Amino acid sequence: MRKNVVIVGAGPVGLVSACLLVDEGIPVTIVESCADLPRDLRASTFHPPTLDMLGRFNVVPRMVEQGLVCPTWQFRDRTDGVVATFELDRLKDETAHPYRLQCEQWRLGEMLLERLKGNPLADIRFGMKATEVTQTADEIALVAVDEKGASETFTGAFCIGADGIGSVARKTIGAAFDGITIPELYLTLSTTYDFSEAMPDISNIAYLSDPEEWFVLIRTVNVWRALFPVNAELTDEHVTSPQLAEKLLQGAAKRDVPYEVLHRTAYRVHERVASTYVSGRLAIAGDAAHVNNPLGGMGLNGGIHDAYNLASTLVEIFRGAPLDLLGRYERQRRKVALDVVQQTTLRNRAILNTRDPAARAAYYDELRRTVANPVTHKDYLMRTSMISSLRDVAKIA
Ligand SMILES: Cc1cc2nc3c(=O)[nH]c(=O)nc-3n(C[C@H](O)[C@H](O)[C@H](O)COP(=O)(O)OP(=O)(O)OC[C@H]3O[C@@H](n4cnc5c(N)ncnc54)[C@H](O)[C@@H]3O)c2cc1C
Repeated sequence: MRKNVVIVGAGPVGLVSACLLVDEGIPVTIVESCADLPRDLRASTFHPPTLDMLGRFNVVPRMVEQGLVCPTWQFRDRTDGVVATFELDRLKDETAHPYRLQCEQWRLGEMLLERLKGNPLADIRFGMKATEVTQTADEIALVAVDEKGASETFTGAFCIGADGIGSVARKTIGAAFDGITIPELYLTLSTTYDFSEAMPDISNIAYLSDPEEWFVLIRTVNVWRALFPVNAELTDEHVTSPQLAEKLLQGAAKRDVPYEVLHRTAYRVHERVASTYVSGRLAIAGDAAHVNNPLGGMGLNGGIHDAYNLASTLVEIFRGAPLDLLGRYERQRRKVALDVVQQTTLRNRAILNTRDPAARAAYYDELRRTVANPVTHKDYLMRTSMISSLRDVAKIA
């Protein structure tokens, strides 16, 4: 059998897969359509087990140095304040990183790329867009074209499709991508204003529930990021206008001076899981396989957990395990996407946007009871930090 892997996509999932494989002596080719790693604002939350996984690449101390360690996170009522504060230190016997780390995902990308660039087993091909993957019993062939239309074929023992939501690899597998599109757009604004001036008891990560307009506040080293749902029928221009940003932020915390806003990004959010993750020697991971709303920070983390599982499975196969071990990857990780990630993120959205006062009160009561009891408090953290899902599916053969 050939002993190399072709990876489509140099997002966090492709890069984590590549690092794990080269560390095990397996050559990789990464084919990425962009000319360089993008630095756009996307996910910034890293959960404890993800940091445990990244520990082997020696990037976590730098991520901590460049990021913000968050020992707590909160559900708040927009009007009445704190409903429940979750304390991640309660996980100290379960993880080497009992906190959430806020560190923009592009920082991890740059660290992993730098690591790969120094490794002769890694061939990184920027500016090449994958168009087609074919396979025989023994190998895969990936066709990619550069900006000038020149095509090149990359062959390997396996192909990992880590090519994001519009995945060519997923389409090649012929997987359905059923689910829903969230009716509202999500608008992310980053501002230099320190929200702890207006809300002194706020955690660095806070979900603010409200029947009319919920929002999320997340602190990073230099800025606070605010996430608002906005009407999808507004024009693109209006959604990302400075006027709307100012109106929303003034509504979140009234100030006499205008907000300084550094970024405004609006995006559509879907909840979808591919009907199959594997076809022969081709497997998909990360956003190529599942997408969800960002409430709970599970998209990026779940994708990195996929990468870790998939790359480790390929290492086992290279060492003699049967090819159908890839089925275990699909059984384990697809179950997490369906039963944990989608369920948790949809429930978080429901807690934030429920209009019925009785249902809202019931959610709040349940959250208050959960944090008041040390056993349920820890259990909630085990689930929302994604430690439980990793341990539960490890039992699936
Ligand atoms: C605006 C925005 C905000 C977000 N905010 C959050 C958040 O707050 N919290 C959260 O948890 N998640 C958030 N997400 C989701 C999170 O960023 C993703 O879950 C994460 O990036 C998934 O990583 P990935 O490597 O699977 O895919 P991606 O990061 O999408 O990487 C895929 C890579 O594949 C490349 N590619 C695509 N097609 C091809 C092709 N045909 N050939 C070659 N290369 C190709 C792309 O250029 C890209 O570099 C956000 C996403 C967006 C778009």
